[in-house]
Amino acid sequence: MVLNLIFLGPPGAGKGTVAQAVSKKYSLVQISTGDLIREEVSSGSELGKELGEIINRGELISDEQMAQMLELKLKELSSQENFNGVILDGFPRTVPQADELANIFGRIEQELKAVINIESSEENIVKRLSSRWTCSKCKKIYNTLSVPPKVEGKCDVDGADLFQRDDDKPETIKARLAQYNEKTAPLINYYKEKGLLKAYDGNVPPQESIEAAEKLIEGLE
Ligand code: AMP
Repeated sequence: MVLNLIFLGPPGAGKGTVAQAVSKKYSLVQISTGDLIREEVSSGSELGKELGEIINRGELISDEQMAQMLELKLKELSSQENFNGVILDGFPRTVPQADELANIFGRIEQELKAVINIESSEENIVKRLSSRWTCSKCKKIYNTLSVPPKVEGKCDVDGADLFQRDDDKPETIKARLAQYNEKTAPLINYYKEKGLLKAYDGNVPPQESIEAAEKLIEGLE
């Protein structure tokens, strides 16, 4: 069975952490549109400079640009022989993106299996985002409060330096939450109406959140 999943939830709900663990367990490919953008930004290209300014204001990049980047990636992955499915983390973030995703899946002959909403309180989000650190090499996510690395500032897996995202600053966090409430939260009802929505309480430690997601996935037929 090909398992194409979406993780939905406000910034800091744990989408990246849970998607990393779940994709490993079920041999799925995790696509983080935030990572795709950050890779473009660190390449130093003209497009990257443009995107960097937008994400550091806490705003979203345009639906067209985002959909184009994603379709290229999905096309490439789904044509591989051992393709088991993808986990989309950070896409769709708007209703037009969700409509476009349905078109993209149609074009590459894939089906969306479920949308998992990680519910999270605003208090938790701010706390998590301001203590989040990411490995510059393998993208593993740490949290200095709940999941600190063994050596400060270094990844447990490969020893590479950890970095704190520029957009995890308090002013940007507020703007990102406002964008989420206005543009992304409507997707909860959108997918509920399509009968694809599953949800769980994500206000729990990372390991419990991962287990809750796995339980939902195992219940999918
Ligand atoms: P994330 O890593 O998912 O928190 O994304 C970081 C930033 O990248 C967001 O705050 C947006 O500025 C941008 N971004 C990521 N995914 C999307 C998307 N699907 N549509 C528009 N902008 C996005």
